[in-house]
Amino acid sequence: MIDTTKNAPAAGSDTVMFAPPGAAPAGPTPIVPSTVDTAATIGPSTTPVVGSGASYPLVTPADLIDLRAHSLVIPVAGTKAEKLVDSFDDRRGGTHRHEALDIMAPRGTPVLSADAGTVLKLHNSAAGGLTIYVANPTQRFIMLYAHLDRYRTGIAEGMTVKKGEILGYVGTSGNASPAAPHLHFAIARSDNPKEWWKGTPLNPFLVWRGK
Ligand SMILES: [Zn+2]
Repeated sequence: MIDTTKNAPAAGSDTVMFAPPGAAPAGPTPIVPSTVDTAATIGPSTTPVVGSGASYPLVTPADLIDLRAHSLVIPVAGTKAEKLVDSFDDRRGGTHRHEALDIMAPRGTPVLSADAGTVLKLHNSAAGGLTIYVANPTQRFIMLYAHLDRYRTGIAEGMTVKKGEILGYVGTSGNASPAAPHLHFAIARSDNPKEWWKGTPLNPFLVWRGK
């Protein structure tokens, strides 16, 4: 760690998406100046206790194989795999790893459910803006879609969605730059979808673009 800033989030670096161990679901979040997209991270400055409990299970290569076997849909309509750019390890807000995939697209482009599943939560936070959390059919993975312009009419917590179904529309809600609409998409390995804000991050880029 070269960055000497402490754990206190800097202005504009609210990184609540999947929260670090011990964190409760975000309540009212202070509005912070938003100049850049610093959204998103899981367990930033503390080491998740992996493999020892329900909330932060150990991620193994088998998880990626599992996800690839689901033939996930790229969650922005019209985006091809070769256009994806890996930003999982990018540092955002100084200390926090991005731990997600940003997919740039014009405002209003449909956001599609990457897999079938169940809507766990419709959430709004300073960082992620309008966000939707969806558990896959095995409830082993939670997928997060953030910075939405709006939700699709009729989408609701607890409802089942099909793979490829429209969840909402690309936007810049939260701390995304108004000039750079994009979907912030994250996948977390979870053992307990009731705790929709927890999980161990996997790199979504690798689901579509192998290494
Ligand atoms: Zn992002």
